Formats: sequence, structure tokens, C-alpha cells
Amino acid sequence: MGYSKDVYDEALAELMVRRNRAENENEVTRREFFKKYPRALELEQKIAQIAVMAARSVFSEKSDLRTALERMKEQSLRLQEEYREIILKNGYPRDYLEVHYQCSQCSDTGYIDGKMCSCLKTLLRQKAYDKLNNSSPLSLSDFKSFSLEYYSRTPDETKTVSPYSRMEKILAFCREYAFNFPNGSNSLLLQGGPGLGKTHLSLAIAKTVIAKGYGVIYVSAPDILSTLEKEKFGRLRDEAVNETERILKECDLLILDDLGTEFNTPFTSACIYNIVNTRMMTKKPTIISTNLSLTQLQKLYSMRMVSRIIGETTRLEFIGSDIRQKKYDDSMRKG
Ligand SMILES: [Zn+2]
Repeated sequence: MGYSKDVYDEALAELMVRRNRAENENEVTRREFFKKYPRALELEQKIAQIAVMAARSVFSEKSDLRTALERMKEQSLRLQEEYREIILKNGYPRDYLEVHYQCSQCSDTGYIDGKMCSCLKTLLRQKAYDKLNNSSPLSLSDFKSFSLEYYSRTPDETKTVSPYSRMEKILAFCREYAFNFPNGSNSLLLQGGPGLGKTHLSLAIAKTVIAKGYGVIYVSAPDILSTLEKEKFGRLRDEAVNETERILKECDLLILDDLGTEFNTPFTSACIYNIVNTRMMTKKPTIISTNLSLTQLQKLYSMRMVSRIIGETTRLEFIGSDIRQKKYDDSMRKG
């Protein structure tokens, strides 16, 4: 699986940071240990000297080479034994003076015998995800900060249910959805006018699902489509190896915010259909949020796409009037 060069560079740079950190920590540990137990340092140096001597004598033409080597080996083993004793007798773990890499498999180099280590694979995935989530305020919203008090308890003339009780149900649904992910997680369509909390709740779902260790991508439709367009037609083409599109299709949960606000072209329409359809076929949940009604969606996209979305998603209809002004007034009063 290919990633773009900047993702590789970032991942390898991170490994170097890990490696340096581990080695620096080891140096400090050793320095402190040898200050307390100078005999251990002496032993370490002697053991190293013997190894050098042994290596050199292999090339000499002494007749008793074999006996000499045996003697050196015995001496070295004795010293090593004493060295270990100092560590263990003073209550330190056996590997106390060794470098403790984050990944013991590859010593934080990212490779084992020329093959990529699983730690580097994980890191590449994480960096590629971070890159896509970069512009999303992923850490800002959670379920705790979602307040129902901004929603009216009186139904407006066209509805039989109040915004408050609708939102109470939607909040409970989203919470359960996030905490049970991925068990029984369908795709969702969050629908309703602007400022009703769709973004807040989808960010809260994203945050919870990420905390459970799943790969979540949260993107706004206009942003991601312009990225995809650049990758497809621009200079980035070779480098990105369709990375963005692949991640959008493969991630455990894709949240596509603000569908319908992008600049609509045959390319963007086909792109969205392709991503949403692929995910549905591979049973990967997608959360789509939009300010548009079903009729408006049908006008903007193909019948095929809209019926696919309607057929495959659980629809949550947000109702009421824009709460952003109320929230703002409130924060000014409190602030
Ligand atoms: Zn590794």
C-alpha cells in the first residue's frame, strides 16, 4: 500500500525522534548507574577489550591460538556474570542498561530485514489520517458539551414534535451509536437547517470512535472535493497515488460534513457517488450531514446516488431554529 512522500517523511522523522529519545534516556540511565556502581563500567570496558583482543588474535599465527581464545572466552564470561550480578543484586531488571526502544521488534528503525515493521505501517496510516483530519476541529466537540437547553420545547406549526424532544432522541441515538461502534453501525444521514447541532454531534461521534482506536476521517465535502480534484488533475497526481481517495474508502468511519455546499460539477458528483457507494458495498459506515432536504439533494445529485443514500442510511432529521445566536448570547453573558 503506497503513501505519499510527505507521509513517509513524517513517519520516518517520528521514528527517528523515538529512536533518539530512547538512546538519550539510555545514556542518562547508564551514566547514573555507573556513578553508583563504577565496577560495572570497569567490567563493561574489560569485556569490550577482550572482544577486540579476540578478534585481533584470530589473524595472528600463534600456535596456541585455540587455547588463547578459549581462555579469553572464559574470562569474558566470568566478567559478564559479575556484571549481571551487580544489576540484579541491586534490584534492577536484567535489561536495565539496554536501550528501551518503543518497538522492540525493529528498534524503532521501521524495518526488520528489509521488510516494513508493523509499527511503521501503523504510523503511516496514522500520519495519513492526521493529514486529512488536519483542518477539522476534532477535539472541540463532545457529547458532554452538547446542551439541549437551546432547543425549544414547543413544536412549530408544521411539526407535531418539539425540537427539544427530537434532539433529546437524536442525542441519545448518536451517543449509543458512538459508544457501540462498530457493532450494528449503519450509515447515517444527519439532515436539517444550519446551526442545529449536526456538526457538533458528528464531531462528538468522531471523538468517541477515535478514542476507541478506530480510524476516523472527518472532512467537509467542499474541502475534500477540492483536494481530490487537485490530486486528480494537479501536480500532486503522481505523489499522492490516490492516497486520499483510498483512505476515504477504507477508513472505519467516514464523516462527510456539509454535503451540498461544494461547488457541484460532474466530477464532484461522480467522486462522492464512488466513495459513498464503495463504502456501502464494503459495509463501512459513513455519516453524511447536509443542510439540504431530500428534494434539494435530488436536484443536485443523480437519482441513483440519492436513492442509494436514502436506502442505506438511518435518517436523523434535526428540527428547530438556528441555536448559534442563543449559544453566542449565552457565552457572552457567562463570559
Ligand atoms: Zn517496529
